[in-house]
Amino acid sequence: MNIQIEQGCPQCGATIVLTENDRLITCSYCGVKNYLQSKGVFRYLLPPKLPAPLEGNYLMVPYIRFKGTIFMVSHKGITHKVVDTTQVASALPGLQPSLGLRPQAMKLQRLTAQLKAEYCVQSIASQAILAKAVQISELTTTSSSFFHRAYIGENLSIIYLPLVPEQEKIFDAVTRNTLMPRTQMQEPLLRQTVTFKPSWQVQSRASLCPHCGAGLEGESDTLVLHCINCRKAWTFGSLHTLKEVIWKVMAEVSSTAMYLPFWIIQGRIPSLGITHLTDFFQRTNQPVLPREHWRNLPMRFVIPGFKMRPKLFLQAGKQGTLNQWRIIEEKGRFDERLFYPVTLPASEALQSVKVILAACATSQKHIFPHLPQVALCDHQITLLYVPFQDRGHDWYQPELGIPIGKNILRFGRSM
Ligand SMILES: [Zn+2]
Ligand SMILES: [Zn+2]
Repeated sequence: MNIQIEQGCPQCGATIVLTENDRLITCSYCGVKNYLQSKGVFRYLLPPKLPAPLEGNYLMVPYIRFKGTIFMVSHKGITHKVVDTTQVASALPGLQPSLGLRPQAMKLQRLTAQLKAEYCVQSIASQAILAKAVQISELTTTSSSFFHRAYIGENLSIIYLPLVPEQEKIFDAVTRNTLMPRTQMQEPLLRQTVTFKPSWQVQSRASLCPHCGAGLEGESDTLVLHCINCRKAWTFGSLHTLKEVIWKVMAEVSSTAMYLPFWIIQGRIPSLGITHLTDFFQRTNQPVLPREHWRNLPMRFVIPGFKMRPKLFLQAGKQGTLNQWRIIEEKGRFDERLFYPVTLPASEALQSVKVILAACATSQKHIFPHLPQVALCDHQITLLYVPFQDRGHDWYQPELGIPIGKNILRFGRSM
């Protein structure tokens, strides 16, 4: 479930409520569009109800939130689980191990330098939290003998719980209740704090095309912004920059109703001897005779650029990858009424290559044991908008044989 965040418009200060997936925000008051970017993970706080201590600061306890799908490839096949958890990342005794449903029950705020606060040192690494997420997901039964594990569509963030440390008690500043008595044992940890770092603050930038300066278009939760003027597309780079995304459109089908984004990842897999499409069909034992010209087609993975339930994500990736030879690419013009937002970043699509490869294998024993050695070399990533027909309850791609339920797509927006 998505959490909601309340923040001020960077232009006029009006309150804007958005979800954690929103990157492009439009102020309904002044109309200004901004995109949000952060140097590391996004950081939020549960809004305190108790005032900060008169001579002192709030004590902020970090909880790491993980939301995403864990895929595991083992002798049992491909298993997966959607995980949404918030785990404590401070060693301070007496804290609750998880925030439970609290982040969903209230509107969170963003961290700012103005807050009178000291921050507990994060004593548990994010990786340890992920390992714990795997335990929670009950995928551990096979963990001793798995071939590959991937976290996909993963969203890591930090939510701070504000505490008010008094002489004898420590209060939860959100519920106003006593959280724990203050003891000698806690003192060293209570002193291990850091102050606010400027890099923690989320940055809002005017959403303008870096190439021509025109306004960028896209829905609030899209990771790819389009310039209608120069037709370039952009995604969030490191250090507050936008980087260009090369995009194309697959040739229309009869009565195209909308386009869904797919990442096309081209590359070689030397350990399996896969360079061309023919190699892939032979190596994964497809019951299809490769056509002559497939010898010249580079190997590509066709991976959904939007979040959806893991089973359907695998199916769509498998269908797209196996039927890639039917794709005819064209240069396209962005039409916001037709184009669905990109909600799975290219980096996550790249993470899912091994899982899609495993999903394509007709014989497990020829592919699964080799997965630890599989590496994709010389990879290139482009974005392809694929046309779908409207079949009532679902969208359908006839060339690739991909049906996607409309409710599945809606649910994916909140994953
Ligand atoms: Zn505004
Ligand atoms: Zn432009």
